[in-house]
Amino acid sequence: MKILMVSPEVAPYAKVGGLADMVAALSKALVKLGHEVRIICPKYGGWDLSRDYKAYPEPMIVNLGYGRVEFCQLWETNFEDSGVKLNLIEYNKYFARHEIYTGPWGSHADNNERFTFLSRAAMDLCYYLNWVPDVIHCNDWTTGLIPVYLNTIEWRKPLGNVASVFSIHNLMHQGIFGPEVLGFAGLPAHVLREDCLEALGNVNMMKGGIYNATKLTTVSPNYAREIQTAEYGCGLDPVIKFRASDLVGIVNGIDTDIWNPETDKLIKANFSKDDLSGKAICKKDLQELFHLEVNDSIPVMGVISRLVDQKGLDLLLNIIPWIMHEMHIQIVILGTGESFLENGFNQMAALYPGRVGVYIGYKESLAHKIEAGSDFFIMPSRFEPCGLNQLYSMQYGTLPIARATGGLVDTIAQYQEDKDEGTGFLFQHPTPEALYYTIGWACATYYDRKSAYKKLQHNAMSHECSWDKSAKHYSETYEWAVEARSKRFG
Ligand code: ADP
Repeated sequence: MKILMVSPEVAPYAKVGGLADMVAALSKALVKLGHEVRIICPKYGGWDLSRDYKAYPEPMIVNLGYGRVEFCQLWETNFEDSGVKLNLIEYNKYFARHEIYTGPWGSHADNNERFTFLSRAAMDLCYYLNWVPDVIHCNDWTTGLIPVYLNTIEWRKPLGNVASVFSIHNLMHQGIFGPEVLGFAGLPAHVLREDCLEALGNVNMMKGGIYNATKLTTVSPNYAREIQTAEYGCGLDPVIKFRASDLVGIVNGIDTDIWNPETDKLIKANFSKDDLSGKAICKKDLQELFHLEVNDSIPVMGVISRLVDQKGLDLLLNIIPWIMHEMHIQIVILGTGESFLENGFNQMAALYPGRVGVYIGYKESLAHKIEAGSDFFIMPSRFEPCGLNQLYSMQYGTLPIARATGGLVDTIAQYQEDKDEGTGFLFQHPTPEALYYTIGWACATYYDRKSAYKKLQHNAMSHECSWDKSAKHYSETYEWAVEARSKRFG
């Protein structure tokens, strides 16, 4: 099949979170299955294009509303020699800045136009290249207008037969804007209705994608169930329930070219589940990097995260003094986000030198070192559509301590003390107490049940999380979507 993947992020160049990893790794896995895959993504500021990128000689036209026509530069490369074609659109008015969604003063004020432009450009790319895909795979609200275009102004054009698969990565961000964006987009006014993309008089791009896509996916089966409830549905649960029979949950895999302790070049020493000696070297390296007491017998607990409400790290911040008083452990935190969390964790590092290490910022190489050098990984998420860090952790023999929500339930097996089964430690309620006692449980296991800890580590490292299986599920979903679209009428 010919698949066009549309995304505002693609790892490693333009990454805010797991979406970037998913788009890159899934596309590569789909090519291995024999599909033809193109990714379209904006070219952001600071993205230096090497000689591997070819510039198309003719400018690409993007057709907006009121007959407005914009010209952009199209670039192409063979993405990491994988066979995936990566097309970048260069349009500096919207994308020359470094930050993808949010600048120093909050969300970019023109995000409505920026991502409408991306959505429209995805379709105009097909016309420009004279390449009609079988499926357009859309990702989150930034691409939500594509299924709306396909069902309206594209309906009787060459792209009208194209199926759309819309993946929900995080329902919390929906792209809600004033109705004037429809004029900018060139979409007909009648789409501003409740059973399309309207929400309280505004345009809700996520809702538009969910209503109009041929098929829907989300990034774990458990999150697919959760978003049909008021607790997790962020107001769109009735819409998702309405489309439930077209929705599948597929867990993300991980890119084992990048996240593999046996080959990872960013860590001090490589290791495998059969020979963990390199992990001890990585732990020492991590303790030194964060100025912690270098001592192999003290468990190190790592965190790598966006510091936002979703991730529940305020729960951890609350209990660090309590933990430091009661438990002999070290904590390492890498993240950036809300200032009360950044300041709070910095304060903890100052209060507990040698025991708490903090790096505020975004640093890929440090993320690898934390995964490799830690004994446990803390993820107290309030909600977690899939989560990638628990998968990386398990690959690196670092046991996750996580809230039982979303994809964390699908990917982590709870430790069963009587059988030494499981791959991590799960807790139910997002409270500081629940997190505290679960960290205590993990800590006691580390100190008092060494053989159980080792067994869990082995189980975790044996957990299969490459993209091969999930890519097959996506492939089946595309076939399902193509078949459904072929039966369209009207
Ligand atoms: P989300 O997409 O909600 O942020 P995921 O767990 O799915 O959460 O993916 C997060 C990805 O971003 C992981 O690859 C993680 O390693 C990376 N990441 C998050 N924060 C940082 C940071 N401060 N430095 C380096 N990598 C980070």
